[in-house]
Amino acid sequence: MAEKILIIEDEEKLARFIELELRHEGYLVDKVADGRAGLEAAERGDYDVLLLDVMLPGMSGMELLRRLRRTKQVPVIMVTARDAVIDKVTGLDMGADDYITKPFEIEELLARIRVALRKRAPASLPGAGLLTSGHLALDPARHTVAYAGEEIQLTSREFDLLQALMENRSLVLRREQLLSKVWGYDYMGETNVVDVYIRYLRAKIDDRFGTKYIHTVRGVGYVFRDAEA
Ligand code: CA
Repeated sequence: MAEKILIIEDEEKLARFIELELRHEGYLVDKVADGRAGLEAAERGDYDVLLLDVMLPGMSGMELLRRLRRTKQVPVIMVTARDAVIDKVTGLDMGADDYITKPFEIEELLARIRVALRKRAPASLPGAGLLTSGHLALDPARHTVAYAGEEIQLTSREFDLLQALMENRSLVLRREQLLSKVWGYDYMGETNVVDVYIRYLRAKIDDRFGTKYIHTVRGVGYVFRDAEA
């Protein structure tokens, strides 16, 4: 059962090259060259990963992602131009799971795709137990998080990070441990991505609900503790 990947990229030669490489790896591949058509295909199709260029005719990759996230949680790897730091941050804010900067080695792209695919696997494993702490509940099987019954919208990366923290509650996890648990051993990006995502989680949970679950242990890493009643 081959995984399906959608390439949304208007640079025809690059798109064709990626398509051939991915097919060679055994993936099923569709590609579109326009933002609007891309959104339509992404909403309609049953894709396992999206490769999304930022600069697209019709609709920008950012706008496409913003609209797609209303209905779909499919892993999205943003493809950004070199040095486009703002794009990376905005993309992650809007729910991208990862990004890759042009020009890239095909091996790096393949590694990131494997990580994205691996990350979605645990969600579908049956029998995974509900994790709770006070009002906070994370359901690995249904891939949902709620606080006092109110659902919290997390990206799949944020979800995985919270799950890793909750599964190891009261244990201090080093950044490198979180990186390998959540991003995979072959992650090749910057290690401060952990701090960035911790910030996202705090904004969505601790800050929003006035609780304190995620604690920083200076010089070491992070720990999830049950909030004081
Ligand atoms: Ca482009």
